[in-house]
Amino acid sequence: MTEASDRAAGRKSAAEVFVLDTSAIYNATDYPADSILYSTPLVVRELRRVYRTERAELFVQSRLRITEPGRASSEWIRKKAVESGDITRLSPTDLEVLSLAKELRAVLVTEDYSMQNIAGAAGIEFRSLYLPPIKDYVEWELKCMSCGTVSATKDAKECMICGGKLITRRRKSRPIKS
Ligand SMILES: [Zn+2]
Repeated sequence: MTEASDRAAGRKSAAEVFVLDTSAIYNATDYPADSILYSTPLVVRELRRVYRTERAELFVQSRLRITEPGRASSEWIRKKAVESGDITRLSPTDLEVLSLAKELRAVLVTEDYSMQNIAGAAGIEFRSLYLPPIKDYVEWELKCMSCGTVSATKDAKECMICGGKLITRRRKSRPIKS
């Protein structure tokens, strides 16, 4: 365990620990004063490059703890994302945020359905600020529109048999245990 996760785990009974993605910071509402808020280096970079608001910057400096997840949790999350088929819809920033939430056993705050899907598969508790959160974990597959072959890999760009265009299709789903 990292120092950060020790700290978070030790305080979990007293205060809630959240991991925030970019939108959760940009749209930051009032998190409870005693809650512990984390995010990652890539999120801060994205905020500073894309959003660049004083409010977000102030939030970063006054409220956020910035931590990078370890290799083990990052690899584990990547594996879950490949399994579900969400890997093509998740950015390095998304994967980093998910990995940190897993590592800290924190509550993930995100509006992103692919991230929520992985959180559901990985046993990470999640909340969203505006949109209703997803209730089912979905596993996706890629099917060729021309010959109907289901791709063996979930990050394929085209059909391995005929080179046809692939569509994303729901393969199976199950309710997320809460
Ligand atoms: Zn094909």
